[in-house]
Amino acid sequence: MSRGHLIVISGPSGAGKGTLVKRLIQDVANTWISVSATTRPPRQGERNGREYFFMSREAFEKAIEQDRFLEWAEYDSNLYGTPMGSVLEHIDAGDEVILEIEVQGAAAVKKRMPECKMVFVEPPSLSILEERLRGRGTNSEASIRARMETAKLELSRKLEYDKLLVNDDLDTAAKELADYVTGLTD
Ligand code: ADP
Ligand code: 5GP
Repeated sequence: MSRGHLIVISGPSGAGKGTLVKRLIQDVANTWISVSATTRPPRQGERNGREYFFMSREAFEKAIEQDRFLEWAEYDSNLYGTPMGSVLEHIDAGDEVILEIEVQGAAAVKKRMPECKMVFVEPPSLSILEERLRGRGTNSEASIRARMETAKLELSRKLEYDKLLVNDDLDTAAKELADYVTGLTD
């Protein structure tokens, strides 16, 4: 069996990464999404082991020391990391492995596994990004402001990516992402 690809999907918070990844998993066979660890508290409706593995900062720092993350980063005052073991197992099993992570982590994955495919999800504009963050209704005003500030830095790194996806019309962007993943050959 041939090995699967490692596909890193990044871009500013609110650009639509999670929405597009959900569509991708439904629409394309053999895709598997990695579940990250985080120190941020669960949002309403989030379940441990489904959206994230929710951890204390102490447990997270111990996992860093034990080299259990493929990458990790601090974002909006919390730590986020990709568990290494399950990612490698799924690639070996032939799955198309999807990481939905912020840009510092994406750059770290590229360094460690240069064969990975990097997709940047871009909002049509900063004002639409802010509307989406507010419309999602999951972040405090302070967190929205911090995420919008970070978004400007993140957008300045989009040229580091293999594939740029402007998420304007959702169906169009979802199809473009599915076509990109099914078209990967090397
Ligand atoms: P991210 O995972 O990048 O933080 P989400 O997937 O949570 O972003 O999307 C942020 C908000 O924008 C959500 O409320 C989502 O329903 C909405 N959204 C995502 N894509 C689109 C789109 N193409 N058009 C309009 N709204 C969108
Ligand atoms: P949220 O708090 O909105 O769930 O996520 C905040 C940001 O952290 C998002 O951009 C999300 O993609 C990113 N993120 C989620 N998991 C990881 C991870 O394992 N590593 C890194 N570096 N970022 C992550």
